[in-house]
Amino acid sequence: MESLKRKIIEEGRVLSESVLKVDAFLNHQIDPFLMREIGKEFAARFADDGITKILTLESSGIAPSVMAGLELNVPVIFARKRKSLTMTDGLLNASVYSFTKQETSEISIASKYVSPNDKILIIDDFLANGQAALALIKLAEDAGAQVSGIGIVIEKSFQKGRNLLEYKGIRVESLARIQSLNDGKVSFVNETMEGIGL
Ligand code: 5GP
Repeated sequence: MESLKRKIIEEGRVLSESVLKVDAFLNHQIDPFLMREIGKEFAARFADDGITKILTLESSGIAPSVMAGLELNVPVIFARKRKSLTMTDGLLNASVYSFTKQETSEISIASKYVSPNDKILIIDDFLANGQAALALIKLAEDAGAQVSGIGIVIEKSFQKGRNLLEYKGIRVESLARIQSLNDGKVSFVNETMEGIGL
């Protein structure tokens, strides 16, 4: 998605060879126009998959998910990272090791919002080593639902997340794929070369 790539180049900050900061439009301040485009792009890519629900993780997955939910006309459920006083019954839990925080935490959803009839689209802001996505897949599967695919705003293709998910047979659609963050610069995966199998 060209507008997203441009935004990453113009407003992203490379913090290290493995971490990109996008607080200017996704992780802190949010660009609603870009989110709307992102929602349309996810909706187009999964238009024929009979998606009935979007599952994401608070907080940065919520904005792109809501926009995609609006386009696909389906509800969005976000897994919580902290236990809520009001969320007590029928919880499904999974552990997730956070790449950025380097700690393991529990995430949960109320089982009543996901049923065995659901075809789930999982959406998240970043894909690094795939731990957040795997935890969301576990929550969906524990509820008996089918995971139809994963939509990622920014994939760091030099980390192992995509391979791990594809190995499990799960379709991954990323809107921007970063090949490297070396020398303080963002390089994207060359989609043309990718298309011809390089
Ligand atoms: P994974 O679970 O795939 O290892 O990491 C994905 C999660 O870690 C995302 O939900 C995202 O919040 C966070 N994350 C991973 N890499 C980055 C990064 O380079 N920048 C930011 N801002 N978040 C990241």
